Amino acid sequence: MSLSMHVNPDHLVREAHDKKTHHHNLTKTNPDALSRTYGARYGTNPIAKYTFASKGISADAAYQLIHDELSLDGSATLNLASFVHTWIPEPAMKLMQENMNKNLIDQDEYPMTQIIHTRCISMLADLWHAPSSRNAIGTATTGSSEAIQLGGLAMKRIWQEKRKAAGKSIHEPGPNIVMGANAQVALEKFARYFEVECRLVPISEESKYRLDPKKVMQYVDENTIGVFVILGSTYTGHYEPVKEISDLLDEYEAKTGHSVPIHVDGASGAFVAPFATPKLEWDFKLPRVVSINTSGHKFGLALVGVGWVIWRSKEFLPKDLIFELHYLGSVEYSFSLNFSRPAAPIIAQYFNLLHLGFEGYRAVALNDLQNARLLSRALERSGYYHVLSDIHRPSGGGEAAKDFDEESIESYEPGLPVVAFRFSDSFKEKYPDLQQKWIQTLLRSKGWIVPNYELAPDLQSIEILRVVVRENLTEVLIDRLVADLMEITESLSSKDSPAHGLSILEGLHRKKGEHREGKLEEGAGSESSGTYAKQC
Ligand SMILES: *Cc1c(COP(=O)(O)O)cnc(C)c1O
Repeated sequence: MSLSMHVNPDHLVREAHDKKTHHHNLTKTNPDALSRTYGARYGTNPIAKYTFASKGISADAAYQLIHDELSLDGSATLNLASFVHTWIPEPAMKLMQENMNKNLIDQDEYPMTQIIHTRCISMLADLWHAPSSRNAIGTATTGSSEAIQLGGLAMKRIWQEKRKAAGKSIHEPGPNIVMGANAQVALEKFARYFEVECRLVPISEESKYRLDPKKVMQYVDENTIGVFVILGSTYTGHYEPVKEISDLLDEYEAKTGHSVPIHVDGASGAFVAPFATPKLEWDFKLPRVVSINTSGHKFGLALVGVGWVIWRSKEFLPKDLIFELHYLGSVEYSFSLNFSRPAAPIIAQYFNLLHLGFEGYRAVALNDLQNARLLSRALERSGYYHVLSDIHRPSGGGEAAKDFDEESIESYEPGLPVVAFRFSDSFKEKYPDLQQKWIQTLLRSKGWIVPNYELAPDLQSIEILRVVVRENLTEVLIDRLVADLMEITESLSSKDSPAHGLSILEGLHRKKGEHREGKLEEGAGSESSGTYAKQC
């Protein structure tokens, strides 16, 4: 057999099967008769992967096969790439299981679930200082993405109503929305899907890799439906300066008469800032903040499937977006994009609000931040890495004062428990051939999932590694992570390191996986401009 440069793995496996004999082998047992999962014929025979099978398989066999294949997924605990929470206490899990089959939209059938949903909204409105939590209005969503679409739509509709009332066109030149180039993909999706011009303000080192208050006003005009301000940039965890931008928009309104609202994307931060840094001004205390979204499944500590959007009062949610449903005997109101949605994650959210309370959430946030500082300092002290996030640095920038209290959260720059880091300049100078993305590959081989990303425009040339410090990334694990990172970095930089072999590993990474039937091919998305090829 000749060595070929490329083999088709599906074909290869098909050909490698035992060939059917034409004799009757009477001593052979009928494998279908065996009920043991691994003794069933699916232990050796192929199952349908791409075509619709005519016959099914037993529930036990289906379970075991799927379970086994899924064990190739990464570990949720070691997934340091995601902001999405991966752990809840047993009693919360029990509640979720008990309610797994409930649909939130069935308000008439599950009235108590609906009441719990409403309580969560009131609690969040209260936490975020809505002027009257009775007047605030909101809804659960599947995550921040849906919540952001709703927040954006409300601002767009209000701008349209104002333009129409003033006898002005809503089409020429049409609406625009302003946000930092570091915006999470959900924010740009709103602009594209709902046909609003997306004005991205470039980031810089000086702007701390986020919306630049020095530049933002160059992008605002009378057709700006609002500014998306992100509490907790996904790249580096920096909070965008909501108060400063609100003040600039106040000045703009005083000068021009145009009132431009703020929607705060608090996907992560709206469940961190109120507890860790309650003095920070970013929420409904600022009159210009008309709506806020958060992901209950990030630092809200619920499991995946719940987000929230809240408007400061009903006047900011145009009636036009609210549907009255006459459904199974009662009247209900709906203003979300989805109709059906699982109730279980919302119940887990309520569990956390009840179980943890303000003090519990504060304790979790402070722990996460403390562990993030530990990791940041260890990385910097190694000399190999430079840390871009600032939560381990004294607040207000500059050097630590003499009476600097290392244990007090007040001493530090506010932000998310996120550690964004890159090779230090001296390390890069010494080992110019080493590629930072190899660290991602090598950590993955030890089980850790730590992504390596490019920063947003105009800093695309800088790559960062990013660790999100969630509740389950305890000090013990940070300890291991630092040890593994140091070992990997040192082995790469040692003289006889076969580092070049890594470029092969990378190729493997990209090619592996099965054929992409039913899946988009690489390059099927809009052209990667550094804007649409985004980290999450
Ligand atoms: C995660 C995130 C989103 C999207 O939230 P989902 O809950 O995943 O839909 C939007 N904005 C920011 C800043 C985020 O971190």
